[in-house]
Amino acid sequence: MFPEKVCPDCEEPLERMELQGTDAVGTLSIVSAAADDGFLSGIRADEILTPVPYVCPDCRRTLLYAEN
Ligand SMILES: [Zn+2]
Repeated sequence: MFPEKVCPDCEEPLERMELQGTDAVGTLSIVSAAADDGFLSGIRADEILTPVPYVCPDCRRTLLYAEN
């Protein structure tokens, strides 16, 4: 099992969000994480992890964690 994720600001347990548009969010995250074009060219589609958003119920801060 994954260790419990907590908010870095208020240390509240984060709530896992269900993605509605996994492809759109994944593409957005990958583009923002890869500054140079050479990074994506070496990755196969099945090796890309799916970013899963976790939101803090207290301050609404949202963090993305890569899961597969
Ligand atoms: Zn918080």
